[in-house]
Amino acid sequence: MLNTAFQVPKAVNEPINEYRPNSTETKALLSTYQDMFNSHLEVPQYIGSKVVKSGNIHNITPPHDHQHVIGSFHMGTSQDVHDAIDAAMNAKEQWANTLPQHRSAIFLKVAELVSGPYRNRLNAATMLAQSKNVHQTEIDAACEFIDFCRFNVEFMTKIYATQPNSNSKEWNQVDHRPLEGFTFAVTPFNFTAIAGNLPASMAMMGNVVVWKPSLSQLYSAQVLMEIFREAGVPDGVINMIITDPQETSDIILSHKDFAGLHFTGSTFVFKQMWKTIGNHIEKFKTYPRIVGETGGKDFIWAHPSAKDKADEVVAAIVRGAFEFQGQKCSAASRIYLAESVWNEVEDKLLAEIKTIKVGSPQDPSNFMTAVIHRGSFDKIKGYIDRAHKADDAHVIAGGTYDDSKGYFIQPTIIKTTNPHYESMEQEIFGPVATLFVYPDNEWEASLELVDSTSEYALTGAVFAKDRYAIDTALNKLRNAAGNTYINDKPTGAVVGRQPFGGARGSGTNDKAGSELNLMRWVSPRLIKEPLEPIRNYRYAYLGE
Ligand code: NAD
Repeated sequence: MLNTAFQVPKAVNEPINEYRPNSTETKALLSTYQDMFNSHLEVPQYIGSKVVKSGNIHNITPPHDHQHVIGSFHMGTSQDVHDAIDAAMNAKEQWANTLPQHRSAIFLKVAELVSGPYRNRLNAATMLAQSKNVHQTEIDAACEFIDFCRFNVEFMTKIYATQPNSNSKEWNQVDHRPLEGFTFAVTPFNFTAIAGNLPASMAMMGNVVVWKPSLSQLYSAQVLMEIFREAGVPDGVINMIITDPQETSDIILSHKDFAGLHFTGSTFVFKQMWKTIGNHIEKFKTYPRIVGETGGKDFIWAHPSAKDKADEVVAAIVRGAFEFQGQKCSAASRIYLAESVWNEVEDKLLAEIKTIKVGSPQDPSNFMTAVIHRGSFDKIKGYIDRAHKADDAHVIAGGTYDDSKGYFIQPTIIKTTNPHYESMEQEIFGPVATLFVYPDNEWEASLELVDSTSEYALTGAVFAKDRYAIDTALNKLRNAAGNTYINDKPTGAVVGRQPFGGARGSGTNDKAGSELNLMRWVSPRLIKEPLEPIRNYRYAYLGE
């Protein structure tokens, strides 16, 4: 019980550490990395108040050094899934009745722990688990996760403050209830911030969560759990399980108390889960909320008037396509350049790509590191090998790979004469971008191509100096991307500034990092109370 109209601190984006060579912050981060590299982290499951160690142990190795063991995880069973659901449901009533002030305080504390004492540990864990370089880890694990926590607390207060009109005769209130049942967070390997935010955002709104992280992100997921516990997330509110994905889905998505899915990952998996939910629709107590942010085939398009923006186009391609080895859902992977732009860009682009260093994240001068695992390496290699042999495509940059120590792939550009060549259409999720050059006078037709080529619609960038061309592109590509960039790379959305998400095959577009997303995790109840009681059924129109 607290008699207060609460006001949370104004959310501001976490400042990004620059990690300049030999700076104190770089030395401190690399020292934590080294300590963790040389020790062994054991990752259990967290179910209710229990730390569950099944004894079914699997090694964890960094993608850039796949023979070096840095930890192990305990694989759980289907019984653990049932136990996690029970633990969540047992925690539900108390958590759902916990005042928003307390929930806010916990997640503001999470942000503060990541900003301060846990920053190096979470960043180093992400470098080790997902092979992010110092910059990529900082903007993800530290800054984006902190921003999610702080901004979502602010968005939550705005949602609660959104109330209907009342007058002197009646008072109307909306009670933004948590969902009735438990929620399920399924997270991808590629962002520690997403892994933390998907369960945290639902929990913040008063929900209880079963969270299944990706098997390729468990090492940093463990550190997130340490932080949640230290910040005071009560037992049972976020339960982390390490279980077979398909089996877990089959149990959870058919449970009567399943109330919401918060998913980020591939389009194929999300569609399977949606089908499973549909098949069990008669079993649920309430219609489950389904939120999924999924794959992308993100474009950079340049109009002929962009020919004097060659440096900007080159920087956008290099950062957009190759940062974090192209493993961002927003990564630029199909590039459409007017011939006159390509004439200005070609030499600069090829020269810039040659300067990119690929290696361990422990060496901060590496712009790129390894891709996540063997399966990913083999898949990307397949696209490169086929391009080497294709008649309608050839590799103009990179095109080599080496998995002897880590899963390293050189930044690769495929140039094609076929705008429907396989790598123009399919999500590769690696450092491979495909380029199509169109005649200058066909620029409007090329926009049709951009719009119709892929099943996805996540991000896209248009480059032009001509404002009329920008306007035309924005109109024609209105449904081709949920996040559109003008004269900028299509990656790097910031919480609170560029709410993120796409439509078509890219997801339900519920805009992570905005109150639109949090609205999915509440079920509003309207409460009306007359202030002037009605004591007689007769209206005036009935006369005396
Ligand atoms: P993934 O689909 O392989 O895995 C995502 C999660 O789903 C993991 O936790 C995995 O264990 C689980 N999973 C896999 N099969 C399952 C099944 N049958 N039932 C239930 N769960 C299952 O994706 P990933 O490789 O971890 O991540 C890369 C993908 O995520 C890319 O497609 C990328 O575009 C997408 N992504 C999208 C966004 C976005 O905001 N749109 C952000 C990040 C990543």
